[in-house]
Amino acid sequence: MNDVKSMLPAELEQLLTALGEPKYRAKQLFSWLGRGAGSYAEMSNLPAALREKLAKEAPLCPPEILRKAVSRTDGTVKYLWRLSDGNAVETVVMRYAHGLTVCISSQVGCRMGCAFCASTIGGLVRNLTAGEMLDQVLFARRDLGEEIGNIVVMGIGEPLDNYDNLLRFLTLANHPEGLNIGMRHITVSTCGLTEKLAALAAEDLQITLAISLHAPDDETRSRLMPANRGRGVAAVLAACEEYFARTGRRITFEYAMIDGVNDSVSQAEQLAALAKKARAHINLIPLNHVEEREFSPSAPERMAAFCRVLDRLGANYTVRRSLGGDVDASCGQLRRTYERGGSL
Ligand code: SF4
Repeated sequence: MNDVKSMLPAELEQLLTALGEPKYRAKQLFSWLGRGAGSYAEMSNLPAALREKLAKEAPLCPPEILRKAVSRTDGTVKYLWRLSDGNAVETVVMRYAHGLTVCISSQVGCRMGCAFCASTIGGLVRNLTAGEMLDQVLFARRDLGEEIGNIVVMGIGEPLDNYDNLLRFLTLANHPEGLNIGMRHITVSTCGLTEKLAALAAEDLQITLAISLHAPDDETRSRLMPANRGRGVAAVLAACEEYFARTGRRITFEYAMIDGVNDSVSQAEQLAALAKKARAHINLIPLNHVEEREFSPSAPERMAAFCRVLDRLGANYTVRRSLGGDVDASCGQLRRTYERGGSL
């Protein structure tokens, strides 16, 4: 089957030419897809015969909402979507003063094995296509009836482990005749796959890169994040420096505060030094508790002491506001409940 939602205009042109249609139809089709059309029937400027042909050759299969939860406190919306093959992924829409930010998944499951994360518990099932990543943005926008200002690829999955589809997604999301979201409004988060970071730096995109650092020393980081083993903090840092040198874009270090694990004074000092070297901004995140995991969020006094060290050392940091606390905990939790046949 043809995956039209993942196709760029030139590829749609080839498809339509093969179907005996004029090239300009590709432009019309791309524009409908970029607006999040749910069926060919909606594409009113395409002839009925072509719509029928496309429905047969390239079914659209929009994602279906399995669950939608809206936070009563801050308006965060969490979706659990059913994909065409029955798998499920999560998307979260957050409300900020500057507009809506949508956080999308890049894979069904994840093979990175981070010790604090629910998304990896069943391993990796499969990569999402570029179209499936885009659908999360388009169908959240369609459902809410509001424009999306920013995209973060920080949901279920390791985006750089699905590198080619990620790049295709970025091109589609940024395309002026499609969703048209500026690269500077897109953030990609990674646990630090150094070999892929070098390739991404060479692309010289204007996206924001967020490194899930979570510990400044190899012992703690390798315990929390198996992907650190065989790479190491020093290699991640070198990749960040190279990324900054190539793109001029400031990196963010994501740092989930875990009680008694990564929140000591000495770790704050090490983190400040790393951030200074990489010219990175630090995002401290209160850890979301995951039922199957042993970790708890840092106690407020430990968090305060950690911040005092960062202040003293002049580190550039923010403490991320915890959004959507009443619409189910951390990334991957809803999908876990669904997979286990629990009530949603
Ligand atoms: S934190 Fe990200 S990379 Fe790590 S297991 Fe979870 S989804 Fe995968």
